[in-house]
Amino acid sequence: MKANVMTAIKQPLETRDVPDPQPGPGQVRIRMHATGVCGTDVHVLNGELPVPLPLVLGHEPVGEIDTIGPGVRSVRPGDRVGVSWFQAGCGRCPYCQKKQIKFCAEPKTWITNGGGYADYMIAEACGCTLLPDNLPWESAAPLFCGGFSAMSAYRAARPQGGDRIAVIGFGGLGHIALQIAKAMGHEVLAITNSPGKAEDARKMGADEVLVVKDHVGQELQGMGGVDVILSFSPSMKQNNQSIQGLRPGGRFVTTAVSGEPIQADPVSMLFKQTSIIGSAHNDPGDSIDVLHLVAEGKVKPWLETYPIGDLNRVLTRLEEGKVRHRAVVVQA
Ligand SMILES: [Zn+2]
Ligand SMILES: [Zn+2]
Repeated sequence: MKANVMTAIKQPLETRDVPDPQPGPGQVRIRMHATGVCGTDVHVLNGELPVPLPLVLGHEPVGEIDTIGPGVRSVRPGDRVGVSWFQAGCGRCPYCQKKQIKFCAEPKTWITNGGGYADYMIAEACGCTLLPDNLPWESAAPLFCGGFSAMSAYRAARPQGGDRIAVIGFGGLGHIALQIAKAMGHEVLAITNSPGKAEDARKMGADEVLVVKDHVGQELQGMGGVDVILSFSPSMKQNNQSIQGLRPGGRFVTTAVSGEPIQADPVSMLFKQTSIIGSAHNDPGDSIDVLHLVAEGKVKPWLETYPIGDLNRVLTRLEEGKVRHRAVVVQA
């Protein structure tokens, strides 16, 4: 098969002919149809998240199961599936015992099994999620990391009816989170630095848009404050300021990959009883719920699609911040 392989840090992926992979016990082989291109791919390529090389990247993969390994009973050849980052845990550690494989120190992931930027990939059968029948491949793919993260961030905020929710950054994750919050019936406020993005935010369903002038927290307060801030921005200066815009009992959810610290005023946190919450892929059910919201047309990923042959160009485009708002490579 053809595989797009990472062979070195900060180098383009290399297209290689490699033997067709064979599924082991408990595993399946998937014929790839589409794979979403995630910002984390860029972090991996830049060496910020070390992985063993050579390796096939691509952790938003969807396709059709074509072969199952010994002992697989849950999924069958012909099933349309997607695979998220964590496929299985060791089964024995305290976190696996609590079915929290996301915290297992020895998980099976795309890093151990290989990712989706190839004709075929191997996945643990228990890591496969069936796709709703009417959901196109290219819409499903970005939900296995971006959409999953967005839904988990929303849920991590413990949202309640009537909560006013702000979203900072509406790239690959944020534009889905904004639509999830709207679909769940909240008043949604989009925060951006760029007046040119205000119209897009409204089209995504934002009730109000705050174009930041100077201090986002003070400007949020001036608009009455918010109960929840979902931040998908790596700008820690802006994130830190925004915490001042929380109402009493408010929750700030961070999903950013950044080397800078989150800082908040402890006295204000004490009196207002606010929380700062880290979130990634939390409950596997979050990914299934976002698949259904998209299949029902309540959330619409804004996509750029490309043939797999353009993968290196797409990764460059992503690194340069030019993707609006999620890129997907189509494979068959
Ligand atoms: Zn474990
Ligand atoms: Zn990702």
